[in-house]
Amino acid sequence: MSYDPKSLKAEEFISHEEIQETLAYAEANKHNEALIDQIIEKAKLRKGLTHREASVLLNCDIEEKNQEIYKLAEQIKKDFYGNRIVMFAPLYLSNYCINGCVYCPYHRKNKHIARKKLTQEEIVKEVTALQDMGHKRLALEAGEDPQNNPIEYILESIKTIYSIKHKNGAIRRVNVNIAATTVEDYRKLKDAGIGTYILFQETYHKESYKKLHPTGPKSNYDYHTEAMDRAMEGGIDDVGLGVLFGLEMYRYEFAGLLMHAEHLEAVHGVGPHTISVPRVKHADDIDPSAFDNGIDDDIFAKLVACIRIAVPYTGMIISTRESKECRERVLHLGISQISGASRTSVGGYSEPEPEDENSEQFDVSDKRTLDEVVHWLMDMKYIPSFCTACYREGRTGDRFMSLCKTGQIQNCCHPNALMTLKEFLMDYASPETRKIGEELIQSELVNIPRERTREIVVERLAKIENGERD
Ligand code: SAM
Repeated sequence: MSYDPKSLKAEEFISHEEIQETLAYAEANKHNEALIDQIIEKAKLRKGLTHREASVLLNCDIEEKNQEIYKLAEQIKKDFYGNRIVMFAPLYLSNYCINGCVYCPYHRKNKHIARKKLTQEEIVKEVTALQDMGHKRLALEAGEDPQNNPIEYILESIKTIYSIKHKNGAIRRVNVNIAATTVEDYRKLKDAGIGTYILFQETYHKESYKKLHPTGPKSNYDYHTEAMDRAMEGGIDDVGLGVLFGLEMYRYEFAGLLMHAEHLEAVHGVGPHTISVPRVKHADDIDPSAFDNGIDDDIFAKLVACIRIAVPYTGMIISTRESKECRERVLHLGISQISGASRTSVGGYSEPEPEDENSEQFDVSDKRTLDEVVHWLMDMKYIPSFCTACYREGRTGDRFMSLCKTGQIQNCCHPNALMTLKEFLMDYASPETRKIGEELIQSELVNIPRERTREIVVERLAKIENGERD
């Protein structure tokens, strides 16, 4: 069988046989210094690696080479994303779900979580609470339930969110993480103006997938695996991949993820916009130790580094499932977007959930406020960015990728990040956060390469200081 990503469907291309062969190849070459050096040299060209090459690096257990891999990941991260970290928050619309996913507390048989679905009025309250913290980018989350959460409900919710007026500006980008659906529905989501369509594969191991998703529409592995192709056919430019680490062997998932990225690039001319790296967490009736494939923080860091160098132009997302310490470790290895001050319960931003009403999807490890997260990032000299300019200016899909691949995205992202940070500092930050933020902005102005752009940014910062908002 040939492994041409162009001629095969995603589900055929990401085949068990090829992943098994890749794992065997990676295992056989884990001490092969000459090959590892060759792959690291190729990675230095910043054009990415194949799933086989990247799998050898993931398997490599030569300490000195691993240090080189980490160093390269850090450098690639800096070259493509600078020191900016994009901020977002998840918004849980509904936890009604008819699926039977065994790792998720929203599964149909769970009778003791409170089932909730936000009304449009409640969405306004939730979004206002998020805007009052300073958020500008949201990721919508919902269970799969065609009766309670039909596509019309999701579309209406998006419309409501974009129409909310707030004294400090509107929500500018709504990403959507809902179950696999039809080309027609994806077209509707595109027309509603969504940013990225995110769907986690959960696992690329078909047999395990079937056991982990015993009932409901999500149990159809092929339909789930082909979702991004349908999304792109429906006109969605930016798609976000991910697997839920802990369910299956991480090396298997890693190869599957990269093959999925190769497939999208070959067939649609554009790879994934983002890759998320969630790990299974404790939740209402879910015990993560029930899954055999949990990974420790060291392996997690290696995974992030290897994804970074394998797909340099794909953003990487880490959520508040991870602790402050873990997030700190992987930020410089490749993460470009993080959530902050997240609530994973339905309605949790405007009203804290009563003790006896557990509607959370999973326990959050990083419970800090957005101000604390922003402060912490700036202490490490990162620029928290609330920018959504790419999306507004149509720099999505292949246009975004070509800018990113030539390293040009940095020329516009850096000034935009500084200006949106300035807005955050003026409108939301505590005095301490504002102080270090102002210092950071001053020290970062010199990193704007073109003098004329620098002058424009200085003018714009002064306008923001005087109350003008985008
Ligand atoms: N219902 C949609 C679907 O099926 O894709 C939306 C997904 S859900 C709101 C978002 C993601 O949370 C899931 O794709 C899954 O990877 C993750 N998730 C579910 N249970 C989890 C748990 N116990 N710990 C960590 N993440 C979990």
